[in-house]
Amino acid sequence: MPAIRRGVAVLFLFALGGATDVMAADGAGGLSAANEIRLSDATIQISYTGDAGGLDRNELRDWIAASAGAVQSYYGRFPVKRVRIRIEAGEGRGARSGTTYAHNGALIRVGVGRYSDSADLKRDWIMTHEMVHLAMPEFSDRHAWLEEGLATYVEPVARVRVGQLTEAEIWRDMLRDMPKGLPAAGDRGLDNTHTWGRTYWGGALFYLLADVRIRERTGNRAGLQDALRAIVANGGNVEVSWDVRKTLAMGDKAVGTNVLTDLYDEMRDAPVAPDLAQLWRRLGVKLTGNVVEFDDAAPLAAIRQAITAKPGP
Ligand SMILES: [Zn+2]
Repeated sequence: MPAIRRGVAVLFLFALGGATDVMAADGAGGLSAANEIRLSDATIQISYTGDAGGLDRNELRDWIAASAGAVQSYYGRFPVKRVRIRIEAGEGRGARSGTTYAHNGALIRVGVGRYSDSADLKRDWIMTHEMVHLAMPEFSDRHAWLEEGLATYVEPVARVRVGQLTEAEIWRDMLRDMPKGLPAAGDRGLDNTHTWGRTYWGGALFYLLADVRIRERTGNRAGLQDALRAIVANGGNVEVSWDVRKTLAMGDKAVGTNVLTDLYDEMRDAPVAPDLAQLWRRLGVKLTGNVVEFDDAAPLAAIRQAITAKPGP
């Protein structure tokens, strides 16, 4: 279930003008301390629309706080000072859709089934995916893969690091899903091929390759996380529009490599198809049916372990 790319409905929201304020004043989404989550460095303001009566607001808060905690831990800070989260209750169970907007301050809308219980919310990935979007500047449409790929790759990595997923779960998903990001016939590179597979999983593949390559070049002392942290620390977030090269170069500089820029130049206008079977072998991870096996004697096993390592003390 793909989350809609952030920004798609920005013009639509703009056209609504003060509609958000009207909803905030009617009581259903009224602003009060109960509708706020205060992180150490950011405030999350929650509002509800639709028939949210069956949803336990404490469970929703716990879910939002857990997602925020994973993102804050990965980036070393929450990416924006303030974000509004609108829970839109609908049919079914679990989180069902998500969109992140940058117009007039960060806003995340997530559709949630009104019959969701805490187990449904614990399984959810959409809230974290949307919050990862907060941590990258807005690029032009042809670079949507850099935004969706980031959210697709970082969401499970951020969650495994705080114990919300297991290593086996995230590698199982990567081995199963990364092939969806490989180029098909007629592909013209990630900047020019805007299919679902290339946008989400082609982008995720870019970041996985970047993570591994940065760790190889730095003797596993730095990884993609360090590059991304530097971008956010320098003011890069969804509320600004930056040039892609400027952003990637900022990440490269922080880890003393040219990996992001070079990989971007390799993959942006050519159908690069990395040898995934070889990559998994080098990382020491194998999928048999649904079962993941790790080989800690593989040449890049330490890099695989570093990608999912829990935050240090
Ligand atoms: Zn997304």
